Amino acid sequence: MSRDTPRLSRDTPRLILSDDAELRRRVGLKQAQGPDVQAAARAFPVRVPLSYLRRLPRGVASDPLLLQVLPRAEEQQESPGYGPDPLAEAKASPHPGLLHKYHGRVLLVTTGACAIHCRYCFRRHFPYAGQTLTGPRLRRVLDYLRARPEISEVILSGGDPLILSAARLERLVWALAAIPHLRRLRVHSRVPVAAPERAGEAVAAALSATRLPLVLVIHSNHPRELEGSKVSDVLEGFRRRGAILLNQAVLLAAVNDAAETLETLSERLFDLGVLPYYLHQLDRVAGAAHFAVPDRRARELVRQLRCRLPGYLVPRLVRESSGTPYKLPLL
Ligand SMILES: *Cc1c(COP(=O)(O)O)cnc(C)c1O
Ligand code: SF4
Repeated sequence: MSRDTPRLSRDTPRLILSDDAELRRRVGLKQAQGPDVQAAARAFPVRVPLSYLRRLPRGVASDPLLLQVLPRAEEQQESPGYGPDPLAEAKASPHPGLLHKYHGRVLLVTTGACAIHCRYCFRRHFPYAGQTLTGPRLRRVLDYLRARPEISEVILSGGDPLILSAARLERLVWALAAIPHLRRLRVHSRVPVAAPERAGEAVAAALSATRLPLVLVIHSNHPRELEGSKVSDVLEGFRRRGAILLNQAVLLAAVNDAAETLETLSERLFDLGVLPYYLHQLDRVAGAAHFAVPDRRARELVRQLRCRLPGYLVPRLVRESSGTPYKLPLL
């Protein structure tokens, strides 16, 4: 082993870097100075797939991909209006592992784990890290769905559902397909972008195996995340099987709050067969306030996109709010 070998996480050897000091060393940055950075890294551990790490340049502390994964002292600052559960999701959960907030569709928290830890994520404080939807909990969720014919769409989310094995996904999808009133399956995942090596043919095949049409919503915030043949191969695999591909992005200060960046993101998504869906205003989660972009600036950016792109390449700017029966459009 060379001195450059990262400390490896136990569960997925070789694939993930999970140490703040190692991350800084690998990208050629000075070690973290203050206790705040260390506290941030303890509160929400570093998790960066090596394939994502390879897309980071050396020695660029302001790199937009690095900013999404590097713990910073700002995360320890308290900000008014920012809390641990900004979407009041605890209230929208009739059973552990199930969120039923919007008419006709439910979201399944299939696992609390993710392939990458995004510092801005509103799930960073979630109590269910490590939980997986199996056994009695899954049976209760399936009973809930069977009893409600008005539900037509199930969204597999998390955490990230695509860190589950193809075999487990396949069992879950077949159980859902057996519920006659379900019409669609949706998957929300950052894996095809952040860790494409985990979403190979077996996963695409498992998710496309049943009668349920598949909508795959990936999560990319910056066009450079979409570089490389692995990402395009994974997306192509889903497309070949007839999946509809959409992207959701989060508007993030210093990462993608520039019209050119968002324009290039839309163009590159289209090249890969993906249409932009949502551009989310940041959820007000404690520790992420330094990523916030003011609403006025957000609206201005989307207006600029409208001047530059065909309408179908302009994402819908939304904010999730706990009191609205849909994601609130800001424009
Ligand atoms: C975002 C979300 C959905 C899906 O909303 P769409 O507008 O259909 O994309 C469903 N359930 C929950 C809990 C959500 O957060
Ligand atoms: S849920 Fe999505 S945004 Fe949040 S840490 Fe996981 S991959 Fe990142």
